[in-house]
Parts: sequence; structure tokens; C-alpha cells
Amino acid sequence: MKNPKYITRLKQVTELSEEQKDELRGVTDKFVFRSNDYYQQLINWDDPDDPIKQLIMPNIREMDDWGKLDASGEHTFTKVPGLEHKYPSTALLLCSDVCAGYCRYCFRKRLFMNENEEVVKDVRPGIEYIKQHPEISNVLLTGGDPLILATLRLEEIFEQLFAIPHVRIVRIGSKLPAFNPNRILTDPKLTDLLGRYRTMHRQVYIMAHFDHPRELTDIAIDGLRAMLDAGAKVVNQNPIIRGVNDSVDTLTELWDTLSYNGVPPYYIFQCRPTLGNAPYTTPIERNLAMVEAARKKSSGLAKRVRFVMSHHSGKIEVVAMTEKLIIFRYHSAASPDNEGRVMIFERNPEAAWLEDYTELVDTHVVADEACADLAA
Ligand code: SF4
Repeated sequence: MKNPKYITRLKQVTELSEEQKDELRGVTDKFVFRSNDYYQQLINWDDPDDPIKQLIMPNIREMDDWGKLDASGEHTFTKVPGLEHKYPSTALLLCSDVCAGYCRYCFRKRLFMNENEEVVKDVRPGIEYIKQHPEISNVLLTGGDPLILATLRLEEIFEQLFAIPHVRIVRIGSKLPAFNPNRILTDPKLTDLLGRYRTMHRQVYIMAHFDHPRELTDIAIDGLRAMLDAGAKVVNQNPIIRGVNDSVDTLTELWDTLSYNGVPPYYIFQCRPTLGNAPYTTPIERNLAMVEAARKKSSGLAKRVRFVMSHHSGKIEVVAMTEKLIIFRYHSAASPDNEGRVMIFERNPEAAWLEDYTELVDTHVVADEACADLAA
């Protein structure tokens, strides 16, 4: 298969009428459009509600005045250009401001819109920061999509990171395995690189991003297998998006197909209230019910998936509900006082983010009991 041809203008999409193109032009002027001919051919244009189309093609409701550009305040954790440090053991190195396609619901669309200091080509200040922070054992390469970088560039970044004794894990957040699996299959130097650093106490993880089972084409599965065979660990994480994967059957099929191919689901995210995301978000409680039903139907490994919200204050797991209450727990917290904190609120069926819950019933940090025991 040839490398895909990128599509960045609506006029290249022959399936849209001139009227539709005119209507959507304002949307793409505001939020950039990018796809490629491999991904476009996954769309069933006969289905007006096709999930792949909803993921990649602009929607007029993106113009609704809803959400914030940086909904989780990520930029507030930028320590040096290109590096975010929110949780003690993990640093994010934003090393690419391009993706192989742009998901319409992207929570980082600000990086594709404005000049910013959040993504850099020169990662040296970030590497220096990591060297000086021995608590960082885990570095997530992100952006944008790091796998779109030239293999030589990735190699330079890997070399510098793995030369730091306290860096044990390098993760790469990437939707390239869905948008352009050919990149993985035609570059043996890339797969070699992903496996090269699997040494005693060191590992590379690919945090793949598949949203819908139809993205798991034969070639995409071959791409995943090639990375696994090279020695990388591969897991999947994705948000719940209205019209794309907000159904029990879709999630079950996605998780099962991934885990049958050696890629267990890791996180499923609540869609962030990012500017432009009005058509894509769905209520938390509806999502939790859906996740639980899909978990019940899924095979063993898929049941490990956690439903989380990437909130400014931390990664918050949506744990369970009773008839009247909903239970959250900080999986990771920006403030050490919140690490592991459980919060119980009165339910709100309309809620789409933590701030929509206003009636806190109880809160507790279970681990504090163990600390108190040890201190006694
Ligand atoms: S792959 Fe990730 S960073 Fe790129 S557009 Fe999609 S959600 Fe945004």
C-alpha cells in the first residue's frame, strides 16, 4: 500500500455537495481540518450518521459557544517550553504539533490553531528539566502525534531520554496506528526503535487511540502486531464521542477486537468540554452506565478498562453509581492531598464534567487510614 495522500481542504472531499462545503467553511477556518485518503475510504457516505465521518468531518455545531479552548488548564502545568509536569512521576513532552488526521473533538485543538510555546521542536529544555527531577520515571511523548515525526528524530529523543538513569518508561500517545498504519508497516527502522529500549527495567509503551471497531482494519491490526512483535507494549485509550462510539455494542466490539489482538483497553475518557465539542459530548452518568454494560459483555482483559475524566485537578475515575449517588476517585491528583481521594455527589443526569456536580455528600482518602496506622 502507498503512503496516504493528505486532505486538508474541503474542496478535496468530492463526496460533499458544494452547499455542504459552503456551510462548513467557517468551521474549518476556525478549527483546522485534516484527513487522508486511507482514512476517508473508511467512511460509508451512504450513511448520514456514519461514525467515521462524524469523527473526521467538520460539524456546523462546532461553532456553538460552548467549552474552553484548554478545558483542563494543561498549559498551567508547563514548566519549560514543551514540557508539562503535573503528577510527580510523569512528565509530558509535547514534541509534535501535527497529527495524521485531526479528530474533530480534539482536546488539544488549541495547538493546531495558534502560535504557542506548549509544543517545541527543540526538546533540550524538557530533557534538562527531566534530568533534574529524579522523581520522573515515566515520560509521555505527545502533541500532536509523535509517530508522525521522522524516525531519526524520534531516535534522537529516545536516546536522550533513555540516557537519563531514572527514566524507566517512555510512552507515545498516538492515533497514527488508526490514521496511517502504513507508516508502521513500511518503516522497519521505526519498529526496531520501539523494541530497542526494552531492556531490564525499561520499556516503551504505545498508547494507541482507536475510537471505533471499523478503524481496526486488517492493515491497522498488522500495524499493531508489528509494534508488539518488535517488543513495545501497546494499550488503547480513547474518549466516548457522541455518534462515534456512544453505544454498548460499539464499545464491546472495540474492546474485544483490540484485546483479541494483544491491545487491552486502558482508559476510556469523558469527552473534555473543549471549545467546539458541543456536538460530541455525552452525559457522564449515561456514559458510566454504557461502560458498565460493555464491560459486562466484554472478554476478560477488556474488563480492566477505567472510565476517567482528565480534569484540571487530576485524573478522576468515575467509579460507580447508586440510585441517588455517584462516586468518583482521584486516580492521579495534581495536589498530593487529593491522591486517591473518593468524592460522593448527588447524581445529576445532565452532568458532563465534574463542576456540574454541586452536592458533595462525602469525601475521604482511604490511604490516610493506612498512614495513620503506620504512625500509631
Ligand atoms: S490524534 Fe489526539 S492530538 Fe491528534 S487530533 Fe486526535 S485527539 Fe487531537
